[in-house]
Amino acid sequence: MSLYSGPVFEMAQTQFHTIADYIGIKADERDRLLLPKRAIAVSCPVRMDDGSVKVFQGYRVQHHLTLGPTKGGTRFSTSLDMGEVAALAVWMSWKCALAELPYGGAKGGVAIDPNAISKRELEAVSRRYMQEMIPFVGPHTDVMAPDMGTNEQVMAWFMDTYSMYQGRTVTEIVTGKPVASGGTAGRREATGRGVAFLVARAMQTIGLAASGATAIVQGFGNVGAIAAHELGQMGVRIVGVSDHTVAYYDPKGFDPEMLNAHVAQHGTLLGYSQQSIIDPAALLIQRCDILVPAAVERVITAANAGQLKCRILAEGANGPTTPEADGILDQHRDRIFIIPDILCNSGGVIVSYFEWVQDLQQFFWSETEVTDKLKTLLNRTYSKVLARAERDNVSNRTAAMAIGVEKVRDAKRLRGLFP
Ligand code: NAD
Repeated sequence: MSLYSGPVFEMAQTQFHTIADYIGIKADERDRLLLPKRAIAVSCPVRMDDGSVKVFQGYRVQHHLTLGPTKGGTRFSTSLDMGEVAALAVWMSWKCALAELPYGGAKGGVAIDPNAISKRELEAVSRRYMQEMIPFVGPHTDVMAPDMGTNEQVMAWFMDTYSMYQGRTVTEIVTGKPVASGGTAGRREATGRGVAFLVARAMQTIGLAASGATAIVQGFGNVGAIAAHELGQMGVRIVGVSDHTVAYYDPKGFDPEMLNAHVAQHGTLLGYSQQSIIDPAALLIQRCDILVPAAVERVITAANAGQLKCRILAEGANGPTTPEADGILDQHRDRIFIIPDILCNSGGVIVSYFEWVQDLQQFFWSETEVTDKLKTLLNRTYSKVLARAERDNVSNRTAAMAIGVEKVRDAKRLRGLFP
């Protein structure tokens, strides 16, 4: 059995072979492009608040080192396994290459429910995980960032732990840190802001006005909440939202600021409204102009793809659409415009790159500079993807992935096979 198993890795594998067929990658080049360079599994013993010691499984996958260090988020989630981490690392590689960032993809995390532990326990897990990773990461080897279940505070603990072992402050070891500890202005907002910016570009492309348009956002964390806020600012009405506790739908719309205030106070969306509760699965197939999955993988499947009633599918999450669903959506290309994940949520890694550059130089930019540079890169990438899709009459996803895979393939070919 492969080290990388499970439905998420199978999905990344299927997508890769589809692209490899399209751009004609030979059989003996495929494993070299797809299989991760390194996969690390660590046991993280942690003393819990009740005095007992629990061991949590940690992972890190570094997909390829051809273009520079690897870069990728850290996920704390109960069901995390090596296959999921590897798939996310592979997607990061195509995402970084598509945006022309000097990185390979990575991903990591701990199989733990971050909502079920205390803040002290979260700090202990975070520090122990980073401590176990010290031999394998570094500012020029592998740079971590936040992902589901982690945040700025966790990144500050990672940076502090790594720095304590080095005997000096190494801010460039992680991105997504608080601004007060070497982070960049605009990183926390970057992914959601990028999603909204690309939605605006897509609306221009298909001729849809923001004012009066409606959106449904699945997942109300870093990506979803900020995307909802930014869309709201553009005049889009947020008619549906959900998180892991509850889903709401109301054609009259929700105020993103009030939803945010509720989450800030209660931790989740639960209890915000009694009247608007809807089955979470049904939320995705309600009528709206813009559907933003911003939570977990594999939520748009063969079972619901044919029932989507949106005009723009903006993939804030990584891997929300299965290949089977993609096949169905491809038949409706004229009806549903897809902003594929490796483009749609790339604002996060783009501003992480800006943060890394600023930390290496110890020269910091204003939020306006960061956001302007972010928009420039997203604009360039969006145009590239659309031009390729049109040229070859392929989907936006195929175009985006092909550009990413080709860049890595070309770099590997030019560097040759060592020794
Ligand atoms: P987060 O932990 O801040 O928030 C996740 C949200 O999703 C929470 O509101 C949670 O309750 C909700 N959720 C979890 N399971 C759900 C389910 N089954 N149905 C509905 N909601 C559910 O995480 P995040 O950083 O916002 O990441 C969300 C997605 O975006 C992930 O796929 C992640 O890989 C991707 N992403 C994040 C970033 C980033 O910068 N944070 C960058 C690129 C991609």
